[in-house]
Amino acid sequence: MLATKHEKLPLVAPPLEREIGMRVEAVAVDTDVLGTFTGDVPRPGPPLDTAVAKARLGLAATGATLGLASEGSVGPDPALPLVQSDHEIVVLVDDEAGLVIWERAESWDVVARSLSVEPGQDLDPFLAASGFPEHRLIVRPSAGPRTPVHKGIASLEELRVAVAACAAVAADGRARVENDLRAHACPSRRVVIAAAAARLATRVARRCPACGAPGWGQVELLLGIPCSACGTEVARPRAEVDGCVACDHRTTRPVPRPAAEADPSECPFCNA
Ligand SMILES: [Zn+2]
Ligand SMILES: [Zn+2]
Repeated sequence: MLATKHEKLPLVAPPLEREIGMRVEAVAVDTDVLGTFTGDVPRPGPPLDTAVAKARLGLAATGATLGLASEGSVGPDPALPLVQSDHEIVVLVDDEAGLVIWERAESWDVVARSLSVEPGQDLDPFLAASGFPEHRLIVRPSAGPRTPVHKGIASLEELRVAVAACAAVAADGRARVENDLRAHACPSRRVVIAAAAARLATRVARRCPACGAPGWGQVELLLGIPCSACGTEVARPRAEVDGCVACDHRTTRPVPRPAAEADPSECPFCNA
C-alpha cells in the first residue's frame, strides 16, 4: 500500500516487487494535509516523521498493515549553499510487526530554479535552465498577496496566462516563476525517489543475523582516521555500523578499503 497522490507508484513499486515480492498498490489519500511542496500548508516535523505519518494515513484509509510512503526535501545544500540538493526518504511501516524501515537517496542535480518576472518578459533562458516543459512550473504573485498560485504549468500559453494573472495582483506588478517540485512535475526528483526505493527494497530483503527481522543495514558512519604525520584524527570514514530495526544487535565493519592513515594535507593540526 503506497500513500501517494503524486504518481509515485511506478517509482516505488518495481524494486519492492522484484526484491521481496511485495505487491504495491497506490491509495489515494490527501497527503497534502501533512504539508506541501508549494508552501500552502507548513510541513510538520522532520522528513522521516512526515513519511511515517503519510504511510499511516494510507493504513488508516485501507485497514492494511503494511504501508509505504515517500517524502522529499529540496533546498540549498547545508555545505554548499549555492547548490540545490534533494533528499528523498522512502519508508515501509509494518504495523503488525511494529517495524519502521527506511532508506534515503540524495541528489545535487535537482532542477529548482526561481525568477521574478514581468508580463511579456523573455523567459527563454529561464525556461531552458528550469528544464521546462518536462519540469513543470509554478507561478505566484512576486510580492503582496499569496494567491493565486498556478501549479503544474506545462505549456507556454498556461505560463503566459498565469504570469499575467499573478502580476496583476502583485504589489510590485511582477510574478514569481519557479520549478514545481511535486514529484509528478519534477523528473529530476523522480529518479532520486526511485533510487531511494531501490535501496529500501535491498534493505528490507536483508534480515538481522540475531533476530531475523527484515531491514538490516547501516545505521551509523564512524569518522576518524589518524593523520600520517602527527596522529591527529581526521574526519574521514573509518567504519560503518549495521543495525537492526527490531532489536539492539549491531555490528561494525571497516569501510571498503579504508585508508589506514590520512594524508597530512587533510589534517586540521598540520594545516593550522
Ligand atoms: Zn597531522
Ligand atoms: Zn534484530
